[in-house]
Amino acid sequence: MKKTFVTYEEIKEIVKEYPTPFHLYDEKGIRENAERLKQAFSWNRGYKEYFAVKATPNPFLINILREYGCGCDCSSMTELMLSEAIGVKGHDIMFSSNDTPVEEFRKAAELGAIINLDDITHVEVVEKTLGQLPKTMSCRYNPGGVFEISNGIMDNPGDAKYGMTDEQITEAFRMMKAKGVEEFGIHAFLASNTVTNDYYPMLARVLFELAVKLKKETGVHIGFINLSGGVGIPYRPEQEPNDIFAIGEGVRKVYEEVLVPEGMGDVAIYTEMGRFMMGPYGCLVTTAINEKHTHKEYIGVDACAVNLMRPAMYGAYHHITVMGKEDQPCDHKYDVTGSLCENNDKFAIDRMLPRIDMGDILVLHDTGAHGFSMGYNYNGKLKSAEVLLKQDGSTQLIRRAETPKDYFATFDCFDILKDMKY
Ligand SMILES: *Cc1c(COP(=O)(O)O)cnc(C)c1O
Repeated sequence: MKKTFVTYEEIKEIVKEYPTPFHLYDEKGIRENAERLKQAFSWNRGYKEYFAVKATPNPFLINILREYGCGCDCSSMTELMLSEAIGVKGHDIMFSSNDTPVEEFRKAAELGAIINLDDITHVEVVEKTLGQLPKTMSCRYNPGGVFEISNGIMDNPGDAKYGMTDEQITEAFRMMKAKGVEEFGIHAFLASNTVTNDYYPMLARVLFELAVKLKKETGVHIGFINLSGGVGIPYRPEQEPNDIFAIGEGVRKVYEEVLVPEGMGDVAIYTEMGRFMMGPYGCLVTTAINEKHTHKEYIGVDACAVNLMRPAMYGAYHHITVMGKEDQPCDHKYDVTGSLCENNDKFAIDRMLPRIDMGDILVLHDTGAHGFSMGYNYNGKLKSAEVLLKQDGSTQLIRRAETPKDYFATFDCFDILKDMKY
């Protein structure tokens, strides 16, 4: 059974202060997980997690992770600006983007970020844009084909727009070495949301073997290998969570086996996790406001896909707890919907839940990553607040909810809205 990190008694108090819907984050859970990750990779001297800012771009939450040595993985101008604003700079920023506009390369270089190239043509683009290449550069690799992890989990890198082929990354390293680059990194993201301890070790083997080959063929010094994101979380109650210690140990074994004998025992391991760092430590709190009995039983809540897009976008499962009814039998079958004029605006379809009454508080689990951040404004819906549940049980507003004024802000330059009261 999946449990909420907030109790019914606590949530009843919290909703008095913050109107639903809002995303709530669990400081204690974030800290304990970050500490475990740090321990799991403590065998590697240069280890660093670059938190994938896109997953949860909230400065308060990122600042918690920084206490555990995390940097920022950015992929756009505003993500770079956010990092800059909170004082993250230099090699504490990994700039892993694709289809990159040159201004973003310029900004990344200005901040001293490590630039991770998605394509071989960018070697020249970056050189032209900056005048010369930075001393440290990284490239993203895509082996193509199908990447199969032991227990039937697989993904399809051959179909993904990211990264360079074998030949291209070799050529890119040669070119960059000739142009004065001294320190090289390799990056790859081959599978997403992998709920298995085998993904990182398997990916590590692919990248470590590539690193050995690249070193031999091009003579470059490989400073780091970036395993990127993709470590998953158990969205479904029957799923077994990943064991980060087993993952760290699995990567260590491959490191000892492949890199150390080649005299590459100084290579730093980097990760760029988003989901694993934050996913389970956030939830969407919403209230049941309508019920409808037609061809199906519907419960309408005050949140919608604007607040959490994953179910509408990928049919993703998010567990739902009806607060205060945790022990009641799940003997009602509901579609739990938002109010968008889109029939895919459903948080759950044919979900067995306890009987829901109007005013019940529903908690949608595991919205801490790729939740709030995927928000949009369809139907003129506004983005919600974000609230931090602190370790001492108190709460802090870490992002206010949007108001109509925010929605109309981009018309501010037009006279038509001059006298509008919003
Ligand atoms: C999205 C992304 C991540 C984080 O992925 P998770 O699945 O959240 O761990 C890391 N690196 C890059 C380049 C990404 O695009």
